[in-house]
Amino acid sequence: MLARWGDIAEGIGDDAAVLSSPKSGSLVVSTDASIENVHFRREWLSAQEIAYRSTVAALSDLAAVAAKPIGMLLALTIPDSWRYEIDSLADGIGEAARSSRTKIVGGDLSEGESLSFTITVLGESNRPLLRSTARPGDRVYVTGELGGAQAALSSFMRGETPAPEYRARFAHPVARIQEALWLTTHGASAGIDISDGLTADLSNIVAASNVCVSIDVDRVPAMSGVTPLDACASGEEYELIVSSPGSLDAAEFEREFGVALTEIAVIEAGKAQVQLSSKGQPVPVPEGYLHFSK
Ligand SMILES: [Mg+2]
Repeated sequence: MLARWGDIAEGIGDDAAVLSSPKSGSLVVSTDASIENVHFRREWLSAQEIAYRSTVAALSDLAAVAAKPIGMLLALTIPDSWRYEIDSLADGIGEAARSSRTKIVGGDLSEGESLSFTITVLGESNRPLLRSTARPGDRVYVTGELGGAQAALSSFMRGETPAPEYRARFAHPVARIQEALWLTTHGASAGIDISDGLTADLSNIVAASNVCVSIDVDRVPAMSGVTPLDACASGEEYELIVSSPGSLDAAEFEREFGVALTEIAVIEAGKAQVQLSSKGQPVPVPEGYLHFSK
C-alpha cells in the first residue's frame, strides 16, 4: 500500500504520527467506519470504488464543519479473500486523499472476517460550521443535485444495474472540502453533510439550533428522473447543507467549483422541526435514510 501511495503517505514508520499543531484555530477530529455487508456489498462496486467511497465518507465530516484536512489514519481489516485486491484498495484510498489534498499519516492493518475501514481524519478550522448555530432569518443552501445515490442503491437492491449517472453519484461522491471553506469564508454559519438525507440531516441542524424550517420540495435540486421527495430522502450524498445570515453568491460558487448552490428555505423561529410542502400543500416528511442492511 505504501508503494502505491508514494508521497500521499507521509511520515509513516514511527510508532505514532508526529504532526504540527494548527497555527491558529481548532484541531478538528472525526472517525468513521465502513464495513462490508453493513455499509457496502462487494458485488456492487469495484474494490477501488469501495475504498474510495469509504474514505470520502470520513473526509466529508471535515467538509461538514468546514475544516481543512491535516491528515488521516486508517485502521483496515482485510480478509484473505480480499488480499488480491490490496493494490486497488490502496488506489481508492489514495485517490480520495489526493482529491482532498491530504496525507495518510498512519494506520493499522489486520486480518478479519470482513473488509472494514475505520478512518480517522484530522483537520484544522478557524471558523468551524456547527449544527447549533443556525438562527431565524438565515437562508438555507444545499450543494449539488440530490437523489442519484439513493436511486443507484435502490437499483442495486432490486438486483438491477443503475443508470450510469446514478451509479457515478453512488460510487464516486466528493468530499466538498474546498466548497465548505468557500462557504464559511463567505458567511455560512451552520452546516452538516448529507449522510442520511436532506430532511434527516437538516433535522439535526434544526434540533441543535432550536429553530424550524419549511421547505418547498420543488426548490430542492434533484437529479434528472428523481422526484423532489426522493431527493429529500436520498442518503450518502455527501453534499453540504449550510445556513447563512447573508445571501451567498450561488453563481460565483458554481463558477468556482462547477457545482450548484441552491437556496431552498429560510430558518424560522418555532418548534424544532422540518416541514415540507409542495404547491402550497403539506407533504409528509420521508423517513430518514435506511442503510440496506436494516
Ligand atoms: Mg456527517
